Amino acid sequence: MSDHTYDYVIVGGGTAGSVIASRLTEDPGVSVAVIEGGPSDVDRPEVLTLRSWMGLLGGELDYDYPTTEQPRGNSHIRHSRARVLGGCSSHNTLIAFKPLPSDWNEWAALGAAGWDASAMEPYFGKLLNNIVPVAEKDRNAIARDFVAAAQNALGVPEVVSFNRRPFHEGAGFFDLAYHPEDNKRSSASVAYLHPFLDRPNLELLLETWAYRLELDGTRATGVRARTENGEEILLRASREVVVCAGAVDTPRLLMHSGIGPREDLAALGIEVRHDLPGVGENLLDHPESVIVWETDGPIPDNSAMDSDAGLFVRRDPRSAGPDLMFHFYQIPFSDNPERLGYERPVHGVSMTPNIPKPRSRGRLYLTSADPEAKPALDFRYFTDDHDYDARTLVDGIRIARRIAAAEPLASWLGREVCPGPEVTGDAELSEYARKVAHTVYHPAGTCRIGANDDGLAVVAPDLTIRGLQGIRIADASVFPTIPAVNPMIAVLMVGEKCADLLVSDAARKEAA
Ligand SMILES: Cc1cc2nc3c(=O)[nH]c(=O)nc-3n(C[C@H](O)[C@H](O)[C@H](O)COP(=O)(O)OP(=O)(O)OC[C@H]3O[C@@H](n4cnc5c(N)ncnc54)[C@H](O)[C@@H]3O)c2cc1C
Repeated sequence: MSDHTYDYVIVGGGTAGSVIASRLTEDPGVSVAVIEGGPSDVDRPEVLTLRSWMGLLGGELDYDYPTTEQPRGNSHIRHSRARVLGGCSSHNTLIAFKPLPSDWNEWAALGAAGWDASAMEPYFGKLLNNIVPVAEKDRNAIARDFVAAAQNALGVPEVVSFNRRPFHEGAGFFDLAYHPEDNKRSSASVAYLHPFLDRPNLELLLETWAYRLELDGTRATGVRARTENGEEILLRASREVVVCAGAVDTPRLLMHSGIGPREDLAALGIEVRHDLPGVGENLLDHPESVIVWETDGPIPDNSAMDSDAGLFVRRDPRSAGPDLMFHFYQIPFSDNPERLGYERPVHGVSMTPNIPKPRSRGRLYLTSADPEAKPALDFRYFTDDHDYDARTLVDGIRIARRIAAAEPLASWLGREVCPGPEVTGDAELSEYARKVAHTVYHPAGTCRIGANDDGLAVVAPDLTIRGLQGIRIADASVFPTIPAVNPMIAVLMVGEKCADLLVSDAARKEAA
């Protein structure tokens, strides 16, 4: 086995990992290795072209995780996770929302000291991604009319840029991390790594899979990985290991390394190196449902990525932020309804009511000691005590119908294909909404930040794994709660903050 030493070893060249690798290697005296399971995204138009995102679903660059049986939801949901440099930012729709102040303040209130909105504000300003509102040329006429109809039906304001100031309701075109002139992604890899690939202190190990964290007592000293040609390598970190493998693969790697809930690991025959009961708990997501209309004929083709506009509603004025969100799709998004027997209209559009602050909590766990076996993802969709999550979707379908009946959208639309106008009762709408629910691929929370006395916290507010030294986690798994908005910008900001913590810690140690 070959053996190499770097100052930092990063597992995962994804959304957060790209940010951290880029920031750390700004100092030419610091060496960094990035272990990335997928290939490079350089010169791959099918990855770099934002509007091609749907073509990546379920393909060779998708780890494609199934979910467990969901008795109150849709058991057929598959969670796409990108296997490519840039991670999910190389696959996603790049909707770019600065988290709302209430999102960060909620983290701080739950024990994530130093993560309140005012402490996090500077990290948004540091982001290198090209974050811009959907360009005029990409604004489809029917999406414009959706925005106008939402205002007319609900009395919500039009939002010109969702990142300009905090909001709790409004309709508008999203901000995206893209280059409108050629529809190229401004993913984490494009913005943070492509300009710096020639740095001699940055080593990217592509198509290389990290299968175990190396511990010496309670200190992490490196990472064991397997290269594309099957060679086993040990990458040693003289300063720190940073795990950025995402909300599915970070807890998976920890547990295969013996870091996790003692009883679960022991039952699978995995040697327990560090009992940490919170690993894999608190699995979060943003589930949404769908309502589809037929249009009389084709709609214009221009778009950034086919879901360019949306709506936020606050039903409960006591809620700190929006409590219902919609994506507007310029396509009939009917994959899940078709399983229930609905047909896909030749031409159509969809509204997808989404739960910004879902209350159901799931769990990720291993089913085998074999590191190749995919972990089980049990989101426990729609299992919260007061049925808040399902009721949000029912309200969403009713609100969607009000928008569809309002001009200027109404004159575009023909028949409501699913669930169909005859489905009106609470129970029937709930049944439909839950059974066709899909994910917008936001799993988070499985190694959450918490205060030192929080027994289920996996990382401390400085992102170090509780009870271990020389190792931090930085990716969507550290979220204590999910932001009310799409999470990628929050992940990038976690990356920026982690880089700051690493650099200032190293400087402090050097000065001591
Ligand atoms: C289809 C899709 C659409 C989405 N749309 C949006 C959107 O529009 N806006 C938004 O805000 N969010 C969106 N999201 C969610 C958002 O992209 C993610 O929350 C975010 O990118 C996660 O970042 P991460 O750093 O936690 O993980 P990732 O970006 O997934 O990075 C993890 C990286 O680690 C690598 N890796 C994992 N395990 C190992 C291992 N053992 N060894 C080596 N490498 C490993 C992976 O290959 C990957 O590159 C979407 C996600 C998807 C999939």
